[in-house]
Amino acid sequence: MSIKDLIYDPEYFLETLEQSCSDEITQYMDARTEEWKARGKDKAIRSSSLGTCIRQSYYGYFSDRESTPIEDMFARKRMYMGFVNEETQAKILGRMDGHLHGVESIEQNQFPVHIRVEEDVVCTATTDFVHEYDYKDKKYYVPMELKSTELWKWNEFKYHPYHLKQILLWMYYAKEKLNLNVPYGVLMYTKRSTMENKYVIISCDTRFEKMSREVQKYDYWKPWLDNHVSVIKSSINNNSLPERPTDVPQYLCKGCTYLDLCNRNANVETK
Ligand code: SF4
Repeated sequence: MSIKDLIYDPEYFLETLEQSCSDEITQYMDARTEEWKARGKDKAIRSSSLGTCIRQSYYGYFSDRESTPIEDMFARKRMYMGFVNEETQAKILGRMDGHLHGVESIEQNQFPVHIRVEEDVVCTATTDFVHEYDYKDKKYYVPMELKSTELWKWNEFKYHPYHLKQILLWMYYAKEKLNLNVPYGVLMYTKRSTMENKYVIISCDTRFEKMSREVQKYDYWKPWLDNHVSVIKSSINNNSLPERPTDVPQYLCKGCTYLDLCNRNANVETK
């Protein structure tokens, strides 16, 4: 096949286009998989799973995290579009004052986007972007967790609790364990077709109330965070399987690597 075919054969043009799409997504997602592997090479409790399901986090801690590449092309395309949204938002957020962390994908493995607490059990949390501000000889950090969606019930939608818990865990480790100044955090949803944004502000060191804004208070969640982190740590230290949570959406369980173990209430075999 040649340039001549591209000129005279529209079908060949479309086949080439589809192949290019597949090559681009494969190359991009393979690079992301390498980063996930690099991030997951040590044993740690990760905020993405702890925010979603304590049991998944427990299983994940004990399994050798050889993240299985996602083969399904539809799933890969959905994820790819999520990353495209992040890259677009990075351009927008980069126009704001302050230093924006998280623009380069390697930063997803580095402080302050990725934070690491080394205690008896290592805990890590990763968010998408962190704005760093210098003010009166102090540094301030505002984390942002971004999600893009095509939800058809967009108007009624507020947030998914497991997304909120994910960013809350970043804030918890940053504030309570690393003593960083965290005025507030932002969970932001973008509707892909229209670029409309929805925000949840998690007020922490800054008080914030405003009609029509979705606001969560860090102090309200603090006891839950204390308890949740303490339960996962003691479960790991005692090798005891945590109770199966009742609030994990079915679609997440369906895609969970540990579904079979979990359905059997089976513990992992530790070495
Ligand atoms: S199957 Fe569901 S409840 Fe069980 S570990 Fe996975 S996400 Fe958690």
